[in-house]
Amino acid sequence: MSESSRYQPQAIETGWQRAWQDNGLHDTPELKPGDDAFYALSMFPYPSGNLHMGHVRNYVITDVVARVQRLRGKQVLHPMGWDAFGLPAENTAIERGVDPGGWTDQNIASMREQLNQLGLSIDWQREVATCHADYYRWTQWLFLQFLDSGLAYQKDATVNWDPIDQTVLANEQVDSEGRSWRSGALVEKRKLRQWFLKITDYAQQLLDDLSKLEGWPERVRTMQANWIGRSTGAELQFTVVDAAGNDTAERITVFTTRPDTIFGASYVVLAPEHPLVAQLTTAEQEIAVEAFCDLVSRQSEQERTAEDKPKRGVPIGAQVRNPANGELIPIWIADYVLAEYGTGAVMGVPAHDQRDFLFARQYELPVQQVIIPEGSDEHAFEGGAWTEAGVLIHSGRFDGLPSGEAKQAITAAAEAEGWGREKVQFRLRDWLISRQRYWGCPIPVIHCDSCGVVPVPADQLPVELPRDVAFSGKGGSPLAQLESWVNVSCPCCGKPAKRETDTMDTFMCSSWYYLRYSDAKNTNLPFSTEAVNSWLPVDQYVGGIEHAILHLLYSRFFTKVLRDRGLLSFDEPFQRLLTQGMVQGITYKNPHTGKYIAPADVADPTDPRDPATGDVLETFYEKMSKSKYNGVDPAVVIDKYGADTARMFILFKAPPEKDLEWEDADVEGQFRFLQRIWRLVDGACERGLSLAADAGAPEAVTLALAAGSLNPAEQELRRAVHTAITKISDDLDGDYQFNTAVSELMKLSNAMASHLEGSADVFACEALRTLLILLAPFAPHLAEELWLKLGGRKASDALASSSIHAQRWPSADATALVRDTVPLVIQIKGKVRGNLEVPADADKATLEKLALESDIAAKWLEGKAPSRVIVVPGKLVNLVP
Ligand SMILES: [Zn+2]
Repeated sequence: MSESSRYQPQAIETGWQRAWQDNGLHDTPELKPGDDAFYALSMFPYPSGNLHMGHVRNYVITDVVARVQRLRGKQVLHPMGWDAFGLPAENTAIERGVDPGGWTDQNIASMREQLNQLGLSIDWQREVATCHADYYRWTQWLFLQFLDSGLAYQKDATVNWDPIDQTVLANEQVDSEGRSWRSGALVEKRKLRQWFLKITDYAQQLLDDLSKLEGWPERVRTMQANWIGRSTGAELQFTVVDAAGNDTAERITVFTTRPDTIFGASYVVLAPEHPLVAQLTTAEQEIAVEAFCDLVSRQSEQERTAEDKPKRGVPIGAQVRNPANGELIPIWIADYVLAEYGTGAVMGVPAHDQRDFLFARQYELPVQQVIIPEGSDEHAFEGGAWTEAGVLIHSGRFDGLPSGEAKQAITAAAEAEGWGREKVQFRLRDWLISRQRYWGCPIPVIHCDSCGVVPVPADQLPVELPRDVAFSGKGGSPLAQLESWVNVSCPCCGKPAKRETDTMDTFMCSSWYYLRYSDAKNTNLPFSTEAVNSWLPVDQYVGGIEHAILHLLYSRFFTKVLRDRGLLSFDEPFQRLLTQGMVQGITYKNPHTGKYIAPADVADPTDPRDPATGDVLETFYEKMSKSKYNGVDPAVVIDKYGADTARMFILFKAPPEKDLEWEDADVEGQFRFLQRIWRLVDGACERGLSLAADAGAPEAVTLALAAGSLNPAEQELRRAVHTAITKISDDLDGDYQFNTAVSELMKLSNAMASHLEGSADVFACEALRTLLILLAPFAPHLAEELWLKLGGRKASDALASSSIHAQRWPSADATALVRDTVPLVIQIKGKVRGNLEVPADADKATLEKLALESDIAAKWLEGKAPSRVIVVPGKLVNLVP
């Protein structure tokens, strides 16, 4: 390599990336029994074609973890792939007439190139793309496992329907006003028969096993627990009465977590979609009910249940009998009750539920208090409902019971009298996996009039996505329009039958990709049991908090189902999880026009103004995005400073789970730090130091230590080296603190700049060797280059074994951390006047004596004896004249 003494990352990085690749440095080793395996995984990206800073941060974090584990002697799996099905490719096909597969493959190629420029130690031989047939064949195979287990089924569910283009729309294709992205038509709701996976069968396990995930952020575990939403309560039955007030055989079952409030129920609410609505609505209410159902059908679930939205409803004219007190109360329908949740019916208790309270106020329904705060008078309802526990009143034989006891007593009475029972309910619902789109994994079943749903036989997989498809964006799924593909003969009876034309939710594809990496080339199975059990669970998973719920929950569900099918033998897929923070860019906004201004157009950042209007701009940091012009292109940063600087900055600027503010000045600072390391090594080369023949390795150091004592420079140097090893090793264990690890590297390089010169070669080499190995995971190209420059390896040595990345992580020598002397602060009348080096084990009397004899005392006491002396051993001596 070049003899030049300037650090020029552009001259070294690409070469090393190619050399590592060619010499298989990142290949996953074959695991042998007893090997210590480590699986480092980043959440795989959607191949949009452009790498952004959020990606860079995610993958650099995982890369450091992988590199450190290799240095620690572990066998490491660090793969990458592509979450490659989904809407953007299909939208591009509709808009520009390009082939979604070709477009996706181009994007993959360009992103792979961009990832390589970061110096990531990825094993590309295990790359997967979910849109390639050799992958989705197994997604289909796994779907058939679910079908065989009775965990995949069909039922009617609501979709977004574009009445102009006559097509189903994904939620993302419907704008905030409820219009189609393409035709602008007001989107309607339609019922379609769709596929579901029965994740609810695993709700309790998914909840219970969260306690095993100690290596996950508490926040993510809480989000999952809330999503699963287990609640214990009761199912209570209200008997429907006829117009004369006599009981009928019909009952409405409600779920409540507050059976203790049943005496306060003043109405019952059904979901507008509840099957009893049509049957029970009276003639007088028919028009109002129909109009209301029509209105609600146009609302999304979020709109219906948002806490800040007023709740709306209408009475249907019929009544039920409250089973607790026999009172007749009206039946309503309201938008906030969803058919899919619980029983699709709730009791309204305005006195003790805030939503019911607001609803009752709006529609002038009675508010009947049945719980009072313990030890207090009746609750005044000015501030809203009393939702806490308390003591029962107006509740007949249950009066005086506290809420907790009353819940049990009322549920027991309901059970004994046949109008209710205890019930555990989950918020989690079954997973709708059907999509009426083209660019997804085809669901591998055939519909036969005689045989029903017939799975495509395993030896006929994959059901390939046809590529010769016209994309008009109109008239239903492109697959359904392709008759040559749809019409097949039934695998069972041979009669004419039709293929399923729905494709799978892309979350299906991403729910098992981490399993495939363990055995990515397997052509007989999605993975062998042996391979998957030896590499998994994933030791460290790194990705965005936006996947804290669905992706992680679905992956956990897949793992448990496949465990129950005997395909793998662990309960949880990801042992540790790190959710990295966002990367934010400086953002300028004109507060008057609401427009964002590109930083390049702001002439003076100390007085930022709109170039068009002269208005003073608001300045703040926000997540990088195209629409706010606040993004920083990774390629531009790499071109200017090199990948190592970009990596160092991202790791140094903030702890990994915190948001990071992009600051050019700090990028510059990291570049200067790497330059200093370059010059430090340059100086060592000029001095003739070499790391060849294991110079400065632990064996050589041990010999030198046995041979004689160290001078003060050597003591300082060794203390700095071994402090850095201790602290950086700590920072890279468990809760990763890459930012403090980088500052320890800076401290070490500063100590070396001061003490390398005064130290014998062996200790100087120990310091250089250690610095480069500790630096290697962070700035892999620079460390490799300087390792070669210093003779750590000869250019002719096989790179796979002599690379800096194939060395061993250093261990700290505790004796180097022991200090013979410590600095003692000397104060005169409480003011710090200087420092004194004193023996580390000196007692109080010795410290006082040394302080009094010091030049500092002589200067400030002018020969007088102090009136008082305060000694704090190990810290200070205060002399009071
Ligand atoms: Zn058939």
